[in-house]
Amino acid sequence: MLSDRAHAERLSREWGVHADDIMLIALNSCGLQADIDVSRLRFRIRLDSRPDEQLYMILSLGRAHSPFELVDHEIRLNGKRIAIIDSAEEDDAVLGYWRKDRRVLTLNSNSRSQCIGCVFCPNTLEDASDPRLTALDDLHSYFSALVENFSLADMTEVERVTVCTGCFKHEHLALQHLQQVREAMTEQNCSGIIHFLSSILTTTQGMDAAADISPFHLTLTAECFTQRGVILKESKANLTPAEMVRVLGDAAERSIMTDFTYIVGLDSPEVALQHLADFVPVTTTFPRFQIYQSHNNLMDLFIADGARDIDFYLYMRREIEDLFGPTGLRPKPWENYRPLWYFTFADEPLRGERI
Ligand code: SF4
Repeated sequence: MLSDRAHAERLSREWGVHADDIMLIALNSCGLQADIDVSRLRFRIRLDSRPDEQLYMILSLGRAHSPFELVDHEIRLNGKRIAIIDSAEEDDAVLGYWRKDRRVLTLNSNSRSQCIGCVFCPNTLEDASDPRLTALDDLHSYFSALVENFSLADMTEVERVTVCTGCFKHEHLALQHLQQVREAMTEQNCSGIIHFLSSILTTTQGMDAAADISPFHLTLTAECFTQRGVILKESKANLTPAEMVRVLGDAAERSIMTDFTYIVGLDSPEVALQHLADFVPVTTTFPRFQIYQSHNNLMDLFIADGARDIDFYLYMRREIEDLFGPTGLRPKPWENYRPLWYFTFADEPLRGERI
């Protein structure tokens, strides 16, 4: 994938992509060799080439063939230090966590750890501490505890609450929960966005209900376009690419913010780009393109032809820039921990919070 910094510099000249971005794309794809008994690690990272910028990453460990290695607090590429990390902790499934300096709260409020079925999902590899918050009282208590624990007056400053779970079996149950989230937010003086990552919200009636608790942001979990029945849990796989476009269009018509998740490294570039082009007109915020992270030999089986090679990702990055560049939408570094973009998009610097 990548041999050393000089290799990244050569690729940088060839592809017009900053070498720092190339290093981080390769790191995200390869994961780390590490002599610790943890399958996934989350941490803050500073590249030696950019010591003033801190990023957040979650990587798979125990990748024996990765050229990247974790030694104490150093990340080495073929033996040479390229970055240091801190605040490392095992990536267990937790009930909630902050991003963007406590202005964005992510909630795994429907026990995400119990959800299974997507071959790339790390749930079965992780420890979990995310009990279900099914009743309104549970949400009230959780938000009150957050406010107290972080010495906040209330949740006025919270811009969005992201509900991130694939485990709602029916649309009406998801909507019921989201209505409760809105009620609990209002109780804490929070009028921020409810952001829902899911494939379960699909009907026009469901979209009307979501619009009623606006501001609302729907991230449709598209993930991939080939072998969907094999790679994804059934409720996700049932949605065809054409239906996904219809769902996002219905949402956008109701002034719901729209985007989708897509995993780069599962489809051939031809298939991916053909479908992604259809998503451009129904997408109103930059989509979450995530680099495929394999954690074991089984997950390795699903890596697309060519996707063990850095050029695969640099090609996809350039093509996606061509697709989405004219929309004016741009990646936000703080909202994606395994993106194709870190410090630049095409020839533009990416600014703003990174954590
Ligand atoms: S929907 Fe798939 S990726 Fe999401 S939590 Fe469930 S198994 Fe994991």
